[in-house]
Amino acid sequence: MKLIINTEQEMIKLGKVLSKFYYPNLVICLSGTLGAGKTTFTKGIGEALEIKRIINSPTFTIMKIYDETNHLNGINALYHLDVYRLTDASSDFDLEEYFNLDGLAVIEWADIIDKILPESCWKMIIDIDPVTSKRIIDLKLLDNTNEYDVRKELIDNGYEIIS
Ligand code: ADP
Ligand code: MG
Repeated sequence: MKLIINTEQEMIKLGKVLSKFYYPNLVICLSGTLGAGKTTFTKGIGEALEIKRIINSPTFTIMKIYDETNHLNGINALYHLDVYRLTDASSDFDLEEYFNLDGLAVIEWADIIDKILPESCWKMIIDIDPVTSKRIIDLKLLDNTNEYDVRKELIDNGYEIIS
C-alpha cells in the first residue's frame, strides 16, 4: 500500500499508529534517501515502546539496543540498525543473532543488505515528493499481518492512502 505523510509529526505518529501490529522478532526494513524520514519514523516506534532515551541515527555504531521498553505486545527491546556503512552483505555482521530475542528490529538502509534480510518482514520505502516535499511511503507487509486491518487503522487515524 502507499500513503502520504505530510509532516514530520505525521511520520512520528505513524510509528505509534502501527504499533498495535508490532510483535516480537518483527523486522521492519526501511529504505529511502538521506533525510527521507527513516529515523523520524523510528522515533515514533520508540514512543510506542515508551523508550525514554533519545533515538537518533546509529550510523556510526551500526546498531543501538534499547532494552527498556513497556513490553508492548511482548516486545522486550528495540534493535535500531543503520547499515549505511556496511557495503558487503556477507560481512561478519550477523544480524540474525538479534532477530530472535523478542525484540523489534528496525533497519535503516535495509536494501544494502537485501540478501541477508529475513523473508518475513515489513518493507517500507520512503520517497520525497520533489515538488511538495511530502513523503510517499510504500509499505509491504511480507508476513502474516492483515493488510486490511492495517489500512483500516491508518484511515481511522487520518492517513491518506493512495493505493
Ligand atoms: P533519515 O533517517 O531517513 O536520513 P531523518 O528522519 O533523520 O531521515 O530526517 C528527516 C528530516 O526531514 C527531518 O529533519 C524532518 O524534520 C524532515 N521532514 C520534513 N517533512 C517530513 C515528513 N513528511 N516526514 C518525515 N520527515 C520530514
Ligand atoms: Mg537515519
